[in-house]
Amino acid sequence: MFKVASYVIGKKLQGQQRYPLVLMLEPLFRCNLTCEGCGKIQYPDHILKKRITPAQALAAAEECGAPMVSIAGGEPLLHPEITEIVDGLIKQGRYIYLCTNALLLARKIDSFKPHKQLTLSVHMDGLEQEHDHAVARNGTFKIAREAIAKAVNLGFRVATNTTLFNSADPRRVRLFFDEMMALGVDDLMLSPGYAYPKAPSQEIFLSRERTILLFKKIFSRGKKSWKLNLSPNFVAFLQGKRDYDCTPWGTPTYNVFGWQKPCYLLSDGYVRTFKELLEATEWEKYGRQSGEPRCRNCMVHCGFEPSSVRDTFTVGGVFRHFSAERHNYDFNGEDPDSPMPTLPAQEHAHQESEKACACAGSDAR
Ligand code: SF4
Ligand code: SF4
Repeated sequence: MFKVASYVIGKKLQGQQRYPLVLMLEPLFRCNLTCEGCGKIQYPDHILKKRITPAQALAAAEECGAPMVSIAGGEPLLHPEITEIVDGLIKQGRYIYLCTNALLLARKIDSFKPHKQLTLSVHMDGLEQEHDHAVARNGTFKIAREAIAKAVNLGFRVATNTTLFNSADPRRVRLFFDEMMALGVDDLMLSPGYAYPKAPSQEIFLSRERTILLFKKIFSRGKKSWKLNLSPNFVAFLQGKRDYDCTPWGTPTYNVFGWQKPCYLLSDGYVRTFKELLEATEWEKYGRQSGEPRCRNCMVHCGFEPSSVRDTFTVGGVFRHFSAERHNYDFNGEDPDSPMPTLPAQEHAHQESEKACACAGSDAR
């Protein structure tokens, strides 16, 4: 928190309008799962074989300068040089979220050492039934839970990284958070799923209205003991108590194609350098206020958490931050235990025509 606060204040003093908070680093797209909401594993085989090298990863981090790096994918533990990438980023002084679906975590954990700058961020989309369904493989929840327990016992910082889809049941999401806290995780990260054009299953994604209703229900009986890795203003935004537009440059994406324009979800071209990304992207064409149809329903972590953090560092935003911290868990008028309404056919049709995401979005799996 101190590192991020001093970084943001430094950027504000320099008068910089656009600066990154979290680098979304995708060292490869290959994965050992086939989740239905995934927008990465659909690439052809010759792309899935590509990997960025440690030198490319470290140069990208150095150039963009973000204090935090979320290593997503694909499955980063399939990258043969992942330890070099992690060690190099730690040496650069960055805080790393190493995302993984945990299938290989127990086997590969000895390649890493616990470090205050390293968090293992395990993809968990809910309790056993929901998670195994989301990742399309039975038994995955149990493997991930055992790997989390092992990592916690070995002294690693461990987070869970959850993407919620339109079938999410608020009561079961709360039970899931309770179970993860009991397991000893340090952080809970979550994001509404938003459509990747490449995801095979488009009807699973949430509309904006449904996202707000879902989060209101979850937090209507939320617990302050949940260690959320979300800024209070972002949690308020998810409940419809704040309105932000996105700041996609806050979480730039670097992968095997280069720097992705404009954000983690949309890929409207690639450039070679972060400088080019900042200068060549027509940022005003993106975000909800721009009228861009692909942005209309988006409330994802990687687009709006940086907006919430930026707000926190304004005079009014500080008050909003503390107010959100105090009131995010208050009863907000939504019955926490009533089921989510059945999706009307019209909304279904609308979602199929729209786009939205999955891995790392919670920021990213
Ligand atoms: S969503 Fe993540 S874990 Fe699932 S297939 Fe895609 S990259 Fe793999
Ligand atoms: S609104 Fe969402 S999809 Fe659109 S640019 Fe922002 S983060 Fe990307």
